[in-house]
Amino acid sequence: MSLKIGIVGFGSFGQFLAKTMIKQGHTLRATSRTDYSQLCHQMGIQFFRDVAEFLEADNHVILICTSILSLSKVLTSMPLTPLKTPTLFVDVLSVKEHPRDLLLRVLPEESDILCTHPMFGPDSGKDGWKDLTFVYDKVRIRDEAICSNFLQIFASEGCRMLQMSCEEHDKLAAKSQFITHTIGRTLAELDIKSTPIDTKGFQTLVQLKETTTRDSFDLYSGLFIHNRFAVQELENLERALQRVKEMLAQRMNEELGTENT
Ligand code: NAP
Repeated sequence: MSLKIGIVGFGSFGQFLAKTMIKQGHTLRATSRTDYSQLCHQMGIQFFRDVAEFLEADNHVILICTSILSLSKVLTSMPLTPLKTPTLFVDVLSVKEHPRDLLLRVLPEESDILCTHPMFGPDSGKDGWKDLTFVYDKVRIRDEAICSNFLQIFASEGCRMLQMSCEEHDKLAAKSQFITHTIGRTLAELDIKSTPIDTKGFQTLVQLKETTTRDSFDLYSGLFIHNRFAVQELENLERALQRVKEMLAQRMNEELGTENT
């Protein structure tokens, strides 16, 4: 079934998702802080400057693609009641407890809620979504048909579909995605650059620096500010670096001590 999908937040990730949805034959509309009328026109998408008109456009699905940091402001500034029809709200934020809690708080009771995180982006998904992971949590679903139609968008592209609670997602993402981005940002602070004698390992680090800094700092700081498990992982990382330094200092003492005797 072809869905009418309204995207809130037509930045880089919203545009990236829209391309595949259009290819699949869904009807898209969008609204955003920035005026994307021209780009939307080129893509065959109706763009609404007025959020109220956007909400009245009879969407099956409202897909929230705003930054983590702006979600609260964006949602609370939307005239959400009354919606013409019960609608499925889906978010794609890279943290999950925060949007779940906000959506449960601000949406009308008759709206369904699906919290999702595609574990890929415009870089990693540029050649297709096959075997890339799509995490979702059916937070409040009564219209199973619309929800499964929406999930089919990703399943039919070959994504690895993984149902998981928002809490479990945030625990795992703090240990994986947040650490990845933190190391990437740290390498950027070190200003690492390709050299004529790069090892494969170093090339991987340069690549990591480049891909992580291509995402906005809003996105990165959102991974920290709105994931309650991230602060512990940051401390673990600091402690791990400290332990590595101590191991080196100890071995240096042993080696140089041995040499000197
Ligand atoms: P982002 O910097 O996280 O978000 C940019 C989007 O947020 C734009 O649509 C922007 O609107 C909107 N926005 C930012 N500040 C705003 C404000 N004060 N008021 C209203 N709107 C505001 O970059 P992104 O890569 O496009 O990510 C969008 C969402 O997808 C994020 O929640 C992110 O966690 C999630 N996500 C991203 C990826 C990825 O690989 N990039 C992967 C999975 C999930 P305008 O463009 O109109 O200014």
